[in-house]
Amino acid sequence: MQPIRSERTRKVASSSWDASDHPVQQDDTDHTLSQAGAIESDRTTQQMACHCGCLRPPAGFCAECNQLICEVCYARCSGCNKPIGPCHYVKSQDRTGRVLVECRSCNGARKRKSLITGLWRGIASLVIDFEDER
Ligand SMILES: [Zn+2]
Ligand SMILES: [Zn+2]
Ligand SMILES: [Zn+2]
Repeated sequence: MQPIRSERTRKVASSSWDASDHPVQQDDTDHTLSQAGAIESDRTTQQMACHCGCLRPPAGFCAECNQLICEVCYARCSGCNKPIGPCHYVKSQDRTGRVLVECRSCNGARKRKSLITGLWRGIASLVIDFEDER
């Protein structure tokens, strides 16, 4: 039966980065007239999954890709404090076993830094060894 009235309510979250709207929830209600003359309502609520794949309430947007991230997956880069989702963060452990959540550029910068430090240490120890041999 054709509905005599249809309603659609959409809940969107607006990104703070580019002001784009991302659907969070959609309600569709169809009102139909039954044979007995009563108005019947059929309502469907569709909850949109976050970009991380979770059906949890969104907590914010990933600063890298501007997608909605849920409250559990949402994190901040320990380097630059930028809000990021699992789509763009790198989890690693530092030497003390502490888990670090970093954006790719901070993770890359930290790796490069430790590589250079390691390299310098290597060179320094080579020089010291060489001097010891003389
Ligand atoms: Zn992302
Ligand atoms: Zn999630
Ligand atoms: Zn960062």
